[in-house]
Amino acid sequence: PRAGLEQQLARLEGASYGRYKGLVGTWEMPGAETTGESLRLVRGQSDPFAPPARVAVRVPAERAGFPSALWSTPVRRRALASFLARRAAQVAAGERALRIDAGGQEVLDRGSCQVSADDGAVTLRFGLALPGHGRRIDARTAQRLLCRLVPDIAERALRYVSLDAAAVDEFVETVEDSDALREALPGLGLVAFVADGAVLPRGSGVDDRPAKGEGVVPFSSPGGMRVTVRLPNAGNVTGMGLGEGVSLIVGGGFHGKSTLLRALETGIWDHVPGDGRELVVSRPETVKLRAEDGRRVERVDVHAFVGHLPDGSDTTDFSTDNASGSTSQAASLCEAVEAGARVLLIDEDTAATNLMIRDARMQALVAKEREPLTPLVDSVRSLHRDHGVSTVLVMGGSGDYLEVADLVLMMDAYRPSDVTERAREVASVPTGRHAEAESFPPVVHRSPDPASLEPESRGRRRVRSRGEDALTFGEHEVDLRSVEQIADSRQVAGIGLALDLMVRRGHVDGTRTLAEALDLLDADLASAGADALLAVRDEDFAVPRRFETAAALNRVRGLRVRRAASMPGASTERPG
Ligand code: ADP
Ligand code: MG
Repeated sequence: PRAGLEQQLARLEGASYGRYKGLVGTWEMPGAETTGESLRLVRGQSDPFAPPARVAVRVPAERAGFPSALWSTPVRRRALASFLARRAAQVAAGERALRIDAGGQEVLDRGSCQVSADDGAVTLRFGLALPGHGRRIDARTAQRLLCRLVPDIAERALRYVSLDAAAVDEFVETVEDSDALREALPGLGLVAFVADGAVLPRGSGVDDRPAKGEGVVPFSSPGGMRVTVRLPNAGNVTGMGLGEGVSLIVGGGFHGKSTLLRALETGIWDHVPGDGRELVVSRPETVKLRAEDGRRVERVDVHAFVGHLPDGSDTTDFSTDNASGSTSQAASLCEAVEAGARVLLIDEDTAATNLMIRDARMQALVAKEREPLTPLVDSVRSLHRDHGVSTVLVMGGSGDYLEVADLVLMMDAYRPSDVTERAREVASVPTGRHAEAESFPPVVHRSPDPASLEPESRGRRRVRSRGEDALTFGEHEVDLRSVEQIADSRQVAGIGLALDLMVRRGHVDGTRTLAEALDLLDADLASAGADALLAVRDEDFAVPRRFETAAALNRVRGLRVRRAASMPGASTERPG
């Protein structure tokens, strides 16, 4: 590393802004020169209005001093890194030039902080807006930021001696327990677990912290569904085990149905201590679905749900630039199964009613020949029986699902009870409704064409995140507002990097199916973690799941795919 950053900066006072570029490289940490700590200016900033420069701070193992138990496993490293990023963000709080991406309630693998698997060394990365007086270098402020604030962050946030050891332990152990609980689900035949005492409601629609106050009812599992799981740190915990199959959440409006489902949606991620959902977990292959009219669909076999459209289009090979509520939800369901989903979550509040139900009276009035849609109620059992895909549905408005549910859970004033027996009795009285499909057909796999994922405009960055929930992909905007399990806005950036990586590494090669390309992406992320995405570009991001990455790819408006004619399910069979 180079010595003397402070003096170098002093010489640049008043120089033209572009000369900051000369500082790119690795420096000894100002004021801690003999410790081995370094400050690297990864990328400069061309002018005061350009995106901030990137800085990486490295604290070597001996100096960081974390006991090996805190970084011995990937889960522990992720938790420790998350704790350190949060602490660093606190130390830097109020400083507008320097932004540390610490994330929210979820504990994700992020580019901002990494703990080395080799020796526990810590690297912190962030953006820093290099200060200027107009287009001249403001060296004094730069010295304050780079030579005093940054060393202060390293000293107070990235060294074990500076931290509250009990708080570090609690954070790491909480995350480890959540992860162990999630890992235990398949062995227990469960799709989700909600611990007794969990707090599910949130502060508000825009505040993801737990709701507070007298009115909050902690979760308590119905007796018959209570399971006990032994965790590495907390010991035995009890809670509601939600089994595989078709589960229905019923109950009156405002009784907590959607809140429970939302907790299952975010149960794919670990949560910080005090969140209330630390021990609310769902299988990693859980995908929330919803209607999303207007979205693009490229060559998806939706014939399980949609037959003979009025315009005569072939629904075994269905494309549109402007899907309706029902066709969008049908496509999203088929795409989720294609990408490997094992559990589907659907809430009546955001579902297309005509894709969910078609009752006896409507069957009598509108002949099947005149109704292209086959409701999910007729294939949801086959999804589980023939494809191993479970479903959890919130449905307070129609009783048709009572017949097909393995479990009916009633929410009553935020308290769940198992009403499956009673539901069976109710469902034993025939309604005159008849099933319109026998089985859910095999998935038709698609192979994305890499050429369709290249940006038109050469030389420009391929993929950029745009605000909270959109990506720019070449010339196309990808709208991710309806992809509800994206944990935070920086995960959108992670999705962009993952797409970029899949194309650059040739995982998407025109012959591999999307599912195979996603397997290769998962392998990259399993072996290199966030480093795999950092290699694409140094920016703030959180590592995404394959499902959100696939969802983004499926929404790229220029996407083209190939389908092998011989693939199972590409036949012309029709439901019912
Ligand atoms: P539903 O989907 O049954 O209509 P919601 O899940 O939308 O009901 O919940 C309605 C309201 O009740 C929301 O404002 C939510 O925050 C609140 N709520 C949900 N669960 C609880 C709980 N356990 N304790 C207190 N308030 C809750
Ligand atoms: Mg609701």
